[in-house]
Amino acid sequence: MSAPLTPKRRRNRNRGIAIVVLTALVVLAFVYLFFFLGRGGSEAVGSSLTDGAVASGETAASADGPAASSLASADSGKSGAASDAGDDAADPEPAYPSYYDPALAARYDAFAQARPDLTEDEVWWMVGCDLDKAPYTDTQAVPDPNSELLLVNKHYYLPDDYVPADLVTIGATQLRQEAAEHLQAMIDAAAAEGLNLWAQSGYRGYGVQVSLYNQYSAADGAEAADTYSARPGYSEHQTGLTCDMNTITDAFGDTAEGRWVAAHAHEYGYIVRYTPENSDVTLYKYEPWHLRYIGTEAAARMHDEGIASFEEYWVKYVK
Ligand SMILES: [Zn+2]
Repeated sequence: MSAPLTPKRRRNRNRGIAIVVLTALVVLAFVYLFFFLGRGGSEAVGSSLTDGAVASGETAASADGPAASSLASADSGKSGAASDAGDDAADPEPAYPSYYDPALAARYDAFAQARPDLTEDEVWWMVGCDLDKAPYTDTQAVPDPNSELLLVNKHYYLPDDYVPADLVTIGATQLRQEAAEHLQAMIDAAAAEGLNLWAQSGYRGYGVQVSLYNQYSAADGAEAADTYSARPGYSEHQTGLTCDMNTITDAFGDTAEGRWVAAHAHEYGYIVRYTPENSDVTLYKYEPWHLRYIGTEAAARMHDEGIASFEEYWVKYVK
């Protein structure tokens, strides 16, 4: 039997219901918070585990290669230097240029010891294109033979089957189309000043260079031939971007045409590739007639910045 609900008992019953409902809400809130935070927390733990795995994977990858690991340490070195510079403006650490490669540090040191006449910057860019190695030793294939900024010298060679796809005829020879158009513009500009420039020898295939080099080295010996003739694969003439002008004689440099070319070739995207200033880099003697097309932008930059060799330009702006 139930007692009749007095106002007091009704209040007690309502209070009981309220307590049950509040308790249920609190429990639900705890359950909700537990699951929500718990899941969020486990996600956080999971993701940090994942990051950790990635990070340790990166560390492992770096450890595989001395290049990568020393890059990482050099980066921290750089940021250290940057903050030092911020702390003490009077004694700033010099920032490394983009072509400084920490992986080459041991070779920089060795080359600097061997060549105390060089500045630090010269050591960096010269090692950057393997000039610390003997010519024709431990050489590399050109990565992209069709680039107009490719470097071909006694350390970088073209495949023996490389033939440019866009050769066109200019004078009695051939060049790649863009190089030919710019050379024709240069010849026309010289002609407008009464000068007679002509394209003598542009593209030469691998086979032709084999015959030439063999002929020269039979006549003068390989050591002498190496100073004026490239070994097959190592000739810029195989690029289709190089042209010998007029006469292949030292005297060309002292003709009106030779002087005009030295002063104006860069306006047409060409450089005199082998000069007295860069012969210790190119390892060729002065060839005032041998022009190389590198495009107007690069040629203007070399001219404006006084960069003496394409090797230096290549390491600093192309590589
Ligand atoms: Zn030449």
